[in-house]
Amino acid sequence: MSNFVSGRHFLQTPGPTNLPERVLRAMNRHAINHRGPEFGALGLEIVRKMRMVFQTSSATIGIFPASGTGAWESALTNTLAPGDRILISRTGQFSHLWEQMATRFGLDVVALETDWRRGADAAAIQLALEQDTEHKIKAVCAVQCETSTACMTDIAAVRDAMNAAKHPALLMVDAISSLGCADYKHDDWGVDVTIAGSQKGLMVPPGLSFTAISDKALAVARAGGGRRSYWDWEPLVASNKTGFFPYTPAMNLLYALNEALDMLAEEGLATTFARHARYAQATRLAVAAWGLELQCQDPNAYAPGVTAIRVPEGHSADKLRAVILEKFNMALGNGLGRMEDKVFRIGHMGDLGVLSFTGTLTGVEMGLRAAGIPHNEGGVQAAMNYLATSNG
Ligand code: PLP
Repeated sequence: MSNFVSGRHFLQTPGPTNLPERVLRAMNRHAINHRGPEFGALGLEIVRKMRMVFQTSSATIGIFPASGTGAWESALTNTLAPGDRILISRTGQFSHLWEQMATRFGLDVVALETDWRRGADAAAIQLALEQDTEHKIKAVCAVQCETSTACMTDIAAVRDAMNAAKHPALLMVDAISSLGCADYKHDDWGVDVTIAGSQKGLMVPPGLSFTAISDKALAVARAGGGRRSYWDWEPLVASNKTGFFPYTPAMNLLYALNEALDMLAEEGLATTFARHARYAQATRLAVAAWGLELQCQDPNAYAPGVTAIRVPEGHSADKLRAVILEKFNMALGNGLGRMEDKVFRIGHMGDLGVLSFTGTLTGVEMGLRAAGIPHNEGGVQAAMNYLATSNG
């Protein structure tokens, strides 16, 4: 049997995502002097464009040569000292990992449970904050898109809950798998720290992470926070004015980012979000026709960039993914944490045309048959009918 596989690999994980040809070409350049004028101009341009996607006019922008986990660490260590209390909603595996990191830093974590099938409950957050009459809670942490469950948390509602409770805690949001896929308003929602990563809706390879930092969060960091060095925010303030980095930047990823941000601007954020919403809706129509169950049980919380699907009891989601990889050369996301082997996830975020997307669903439907997962036929047809008659 030949080892050669004809045709393009389908990378339909919820990050890393498919890279546009333009982004690949933009990266394919020599490095330049990162202390020279050409680099400074690039840095400034990127800060300006990142503010556009975060929808902020003046937040301090951090760009770290690190995965999203690094930006989590920067958020916690700049604003919080060991013993400080935070409030976090347990919405899935990523909130779990963020919480675990907070615990390792000696923070006092107050956690609100969910069943991992919906977003954070803003009313529960409000109640917890109202009960915190001494304002011991220093930060509320929320994950906008829980990539593991494909459920969204309504960040505007979390902010409203904080305002209703008249609580001064910082609001920190992980928008790693939602920035560039779903509407995100750092300024309007009064977010203090937004965290993002390069490898999802931003259509850039893994390796960069981002923070948007409000003046309030910056003031908290300046007044204290925890021990940090590499992650310290202070040098970012100067960086944002000069375009230079306090260390050697991940230059080729920045070339990629600059191009990807131009592409987002050309498409227009509203169109980008509508495209993701349309693919998500088409995916759910396919899932309903297959007779399978979504992990997300709240229709108001469906994620635009990823759909998590449960396999029937007694069947293996991992086996399904292995069959799809082997037979159809497509990678899907696995079930994480307590959803291991029970859930598979279709990433439909980033650079994805309608035909590649329907090809993705076709691969899933063929895989369901090949792996012997009980289902009804017609999921792809249901998605196609919707896509053929809707605009986007
Ligand atoms: N938060 C969310 C919502 C994620 O989806 C991920 C990664 O998939 C992370 C955090 C961790 O990011 P990274 O793997 O880039 O460190």
